[in-house]
Amino acid sequence: MIERSLYDDTHGLFREAVRRFFAAELIPNIPRWEEERQMDKSFWRRCGEQGLLCPDMPEHYGGSGQDFRYNAIVLEETSFTGSSSPTFGVHSDIVAHYTLKYASEAMRRHWLPRMVSGEAIGAICMSEPDGGSDLQRIRTTARREGEHYRINGAKTFITNGIVADVAIVAAKTGGSEGSKSISLFLVETDRPGYTLGRKLEKVGQQSSDVAEIFLQDVMVPVDQLLGAENQGFVYMMQELPQERLSIAVTAQAAAQHAFDITLEYVKQRRAFGKTLLEFQNTRFVMADLKAKLQVGWAHLDACIMALVKRQLTTAEAAAAKLWHTELRCEVADACVQLFGGYGYMNEYEISRLWKDARVQRIYGGTSEIMKELISRGL
Ligand SMILES: Cc1cc2nc3c(=O)[nH]c(=O)nc-3n(C[C@H](O)[C@H](O)[C@H](O)COP(=O)(O)OP(=O)(O)OC[C@H]3O[C@@H](n4cnc5c(N)ncnc54)[C@H](O)[C@@H]3O)c2cc1C
Repeated sequence: MIERSLYDDTHGLFREAVRRFFAAELIPNIPRWEEERQMDKSFWRRCGEQGLLCPDMPEHYGGSGQDFRYNAIVLEETSFTGSSSPTFGVHSDIVAHYTLKYASEAMRRHWLPRMVSGEAIGAICMSEPDGGSDLQRIRTTARREGEHYRINGAKTFITNGIVADVAIVAAKTGGSEGSKSISLFLVETDRPGYTLGRKLEKVGQQSSDVAEIFLQDVMVPVDQLLGAENQGFVYMMQELPQERLSIAVTAQAAAQHAFDITLEYVKQRRAFGKTLLEFQNTRFVMADLKAKLQVGWAHLDACIMALVKRQLTTAEAAAAKLWHTELRCEVADACVQLFGGYGYMNEYEISRLWKDARVQRIYGGTSEIMKELISRGL
């Protein structure tokens, strides 16, 4: 890999520490967590102790006051382990950020130190059974009653749904259809009326939990409204660059990991008296992927620095999410092919990487929605 100029020696030390910690406490647990379809909740606390959660939160809220590069290192190192279980992107890059930017000071002081320590895990509840891409159509409502909002509705596909302690819930507060009537609320998951539905059976990413959530007459104090009423859609648009870039980072690093383990395999697997790598087709496939990965890292690094400088636009972040997640799927598919029949066996890591890859073109906004966003600025 070409040297990455966005990281200096201090980042290198942090990366080494994350890698050592994952080697000791994440990698050995991957098979069990995949089997149990959930990561141990205690692992979040361990990650908090190691400074892996929300590293870009200000120090007075318990964070280490770093910038997104530290978040990116944690995401990259997670993908390099081959695991998809720690859903740091949702927690650190989405929930903590909405809380920092739009919650009341009392809510920030309450939740952010707990999110940094791993005592509280965050979820974001946008998608509903009737629609995920078209968020303007959400049906969940929040009606003001004195000093509370009464929230009713149903959410689905919620990452961390089972383990979350706090959730950001999107609900309609205005009468109109469309974007100008959506508000966001910070809701404790143990509030009466907040109930878990099914833990959903997924194709891949087995060790991260995804659930249905039901909200029945959940009474939320008015100071748990994020920002101003009916401004939720505007806030979502503002937060999207970091959310989308964190998915792109995960995708690029996971693609690299799939490439790396496949390179090892094709060097030792033999057919017709040669290693697979000696076939011109294998070398050309791997060369093609290597070239795309090289370009991908350069692009990703430019996007990370643009985000750090607060210059990454919504369309640029959408392009990054689109391109890197499509690349991840292309790499994973080509690698499965090079593993032959073993590539389709669950006991081989590459099969899991292939299954885990697919959803990245769907969640956080589908590839088609990314193209819509990019094309609006043409
Ligand atoms: C594993 C997983 C985890 C998730 N985690 C979360 C979470 O934590 N929180 C959360 O809120 N949501 C989450 N989601 C939901 C996810 O964001 C949505 O599934 C996604 O946005 C797509 O919405 P949808 O499933 O309703 O598909 P639909 O919106 O019904 O889309 C179906 C198809 O139509 C296409 N389409 C829709 N609109 C257009 C258009 N305008 N132009 C062209 N094509 C279009 C889509 O691209 C797609 O191909 C998760 C989903 C999964 C699978």
